[in-house]
Amino acid sequence: MQHHTVQQLSAGPRAGKYVYTGGGERARYVECCADAFLLVYGVPEDERDSSPAWQDVGHDTAADAYAHMRAVLLTRLTLTGRLADWSGCTAPVGGRICDEPTKGVAQIPPMHFQEPLCDEHRTPETVAAMWDGPGDWSGSW
Ligand SMILES: [Zn+2]
Ligand SMILES: [Zn+2]
Repeated sequence: MQHHTVQQLSAGPRAGKYVYTGGGERARYVECCADAFLLVYGVPEDERDSSPAWQDVGHDTAADAYAHMRAVLLTRLTLTGRLADWSGCTAPVGGRICDEPTKGVAQIPPMHFQEPLCDEHRTPETVAAMWDGPGDWSGSW
Protein backbone atom coordinates (compact mmCIF):
# COMPACT_ATOMS: atom_id res chain seq x y z
CA MET A 1 0.00 0.00 0.00
CA GLN A 2 1.27 3.44 -0.93
CA HIS A 3 0.44 6.44 1.23
CA HIS A 4 0.43 9.94 -0.17
CA THR A 5 0.35 12.86 2.22
CA VAL A 6 2.18 15.92 3.45
CA GLN A 7 4.77 15.41 6.14
CA GLN A 8 7.31 17.58 7.91
CA LEU A 9 10.92 16.66 7.36
CA SER A 10 12.34 15.62 10.73
CA ALA A 11 15.99 15.41 9.72
CA GLY A 12 18.40 16.42 7.04
CA PRO A 13 19.38 19.77 5.58
CA ARG A 14 15.75 20.83 5.20
CA ALA A 15 14.42 19.68 8.57
CA GLY A 16 11.23 21.50 9.57
CA LYS A 17 10.09 22.04 5.98
CA TYR A 18 6.92 20.41 4.62
CA VAL A 19 6.85 18.16 1.58
CA TYR A 20 4.28 16.04 -0.22
CA THR A 21 5.47 12.45 -0.05
CA GLY A 22 4.61 9.05 -1.35
CA GLY A 23 5.78 5.50 -0.81
CA GLY A 24 5.32 2.77 1.75
CA GLU A 25 5.82 2.70 5.51
CA ARG A 26 9.61 2.70 5.38
CA ALA A 27 10.80 4.11 2.09
CA ARG A 28 9.28 7.56 1.66
CA TYR A 29 10.12 9.90 -1.19
CA VAL A 30 9.33 13.50 -2.00
CA GLU A 31 6.75 13.82 -4.75
CA CYS A 32 6.17 17.54 -5.03
CA CYS A 33 9.58 19.21 -5.21
CA ALA A 34 12.07 16.76 -6.61
CA ASP A 35 11.78 15.29 -10.08
CA ALA A 36 13.98 12.39 -9.10
CA PHE A 37 12.83 10.10 -6.33
CA LEU A 38 14.65 11.79 -3.50
CA LEU A 39 14.58 9.37 -0.62
CA VAL A 40 13.76 10.83 2.76
CA TYR A 41 14.13 7.53 4.52
CA GLY A 42 15.58 4.27 3.31
CA VAL A 43 19.00 5.55 2.25
CA PRO A 44 22.18 5.48 4.32
CA GLU A 45 22.40 8.48 6.60
CA ASP A 46 25.77 9.64 5.31
CA GLU A 47 24.42 9.84 1.77
CA ARG A 48 21.13 11.39 2.76
CA ASP A 49 22.29 14.95 3.27
CA SER A 50 24.67 15.40 0.38
CA SER A 51 22.29 15.57 -2.56
CA PRO A 52 22.19 19.01 -4.20
CA ALA A 53 18.52 18.35 -4.93
CA TRP A 54 17.73 19.30 -1.32
CA GLN A 55 18.17 22.99 -2.11
CA ASP A 56 14.84 23.02 -3.91
CA VAL A 57 12.95 20.81 -1.48
CA GLY A 58 10.42 21.81 1.14
CA HIS A 59 7.80 24.42 1.98
CA ASP A 60 7.18 26.56 5.05
CA THR A 61 3.63 25.26 5.58
CA ALA A 62 1.69 22.06 4.91
CA ALA A 63 -0.77 24.06 2.78
CA ASP A 64 2.09 25.17 0.55
CA ALA A 65 3.16 21.55 0.07
CA TYR A 66 -0.37 20.47 -0.92
CA ALA A 67 -0.59 23.42 -3.29
CA HIS A 68 2.75 22.56 -4.86
CA MET A 69 1.74 18.93 -5.42
CA ARG A 70 -1.48 20.14 -7.01
CA ALA A 71 0.42 22.51 -9.30
CA VAL A 72 2.83 19.74 -10.33
CA LEU A 73 -0.04 17.36 -11.13
CA LEU A 74 -1.93 20.00 -13.09
CA THR A 75 1.11 20.39 -15.36
CA ARG A 76 0.68 16.70 -16.24
CA LEU A 77 -2.86 17.24 -17.43
CA THR A 78 -3.53 15.91 -20.90
CA LEU A 79 -6.48 17.09 -22.97
CA THR A 80 -5.91 15.03 -26.11
CA GLY A 81 -7.14 11.63 -24.94
CA ARG A 82 -10.04 9.98 -26.80
CA LEU A 83 -12.70 7.66 -25.44
CA ALA A 84 -13.88 4.70 -27.46
CA ASP A 85 -17.53 5.60 -26.91
CA TRP A 86 -19.49 8.82 -26.71
CA SER A 87 -19.99 10.20 -23.20
CA GLY A 88 -21.68 13.24 -21.77
CA CYS A 89 -19.42 16.15 -20.79
CA THR A 90 -19.28 16.24 -16.99
CA ALA A 91 -18.34 19.90 -16.64
CA PRO A 92 -20.57 21.86 -14.23
CA VAL A 93 -22.21 24.79 -15.96
CA GLY A 94 -24.29 27.14 -13.85
CA GLY A 95 -25.69 24.54 -11.46
CA ARG A 96 -26.14 21.72 -13.96
CA ILE A 97 -23.93 19.35 -15.94
CA CYS A 98 -23.03 20.27 -19.51
CA ASP A 99 -23.76 16.75 -20.90
CA GLU A 100 -22.66 17.64 -24.43
CA PRO A 101 -21.77 14.36 -26.22
CA THR A 102 -18.02 13.99 -26.57
CA LYS A 103 -15.26 11.45 -27.03
CA GLY A 104 -12.71 13.85 -25.58
CA VAL A 105 -11.29 13.14 -22.16
CA ALA A 106 -9.16 15.14 -19.75
CA GLN A 107 -6.72 13.10 -17.69
CA ILE A 108 -4.19 13.62 -14.93
CA PRO A 109 -2.20 10.40 -14.92
CA PRO A 110 -2.06 7.86 -13.59
CA MET A 111 -5.60 8.14 -12.14
CA HIS A 112 -5.93 11.46 -10.34
CA PHE A 113 -8.52 12.78 -12.74
CA GLN A 114 -10.32 11.35 -15.74
CA GLU A 115 -13.51 12.92 -17.03
CA PRO A 116 -15.14 13.22 -20.42
CA LEU A 117 -15.23 16.90 -21.38
CA CYS A 118 -16.54 18.48 -24.57
CA ASP A 119 -14.33 20.62 -26.79
CA GLU A 120 -15.51 23.79 -25.09
CA HIS A 121 -14.85 22.53 -21.56
CA ARG A 122 -11.72 20.47 -22.14
CA THR A 123 -9.48 23.18 -20.70
CA PRO A 124 -7.03 23.47 -17.80
CA GLU A 125 -9.34 26.04 -16.19
CA THR A 126 -12.32 23.64 -16.16
CA VAL A 127 -10.24 20.80 -14.74
CA ALA A 128 -8.77 23.05 -12.04
CA ALA A 129 -12.32 24.04 -11.04
CA MET A 130 -13.59 20.43 -11.02
CA TRP A 131 -10.66 18.77 -9.27
CA ASP A 132 -9.66 19.68 -5.72
CA GLY A 133 -6.96 17.04 -5.32
CA PRO A 134 -4.70 15.49 -4.59
CA GLY A 135 -5.21 15.75 -0.79
CA ASP A 136 -4.23 12.64 1.15
CA TRP A 137 -4.83 9.24 -0.33
CA SER A 138 -3.70 5.63 -0.21
CA GLY A 139 -3.61 3.05 -2.95
CA SER A 140 -1.51 0.65 -4.90
CA TRP A 141 0.02 3.40 -7.06
ZN1 LIG B 1 7.06 21.00 -3.15
ZN1 LIG C 1 -19.06 20.60 -21.89
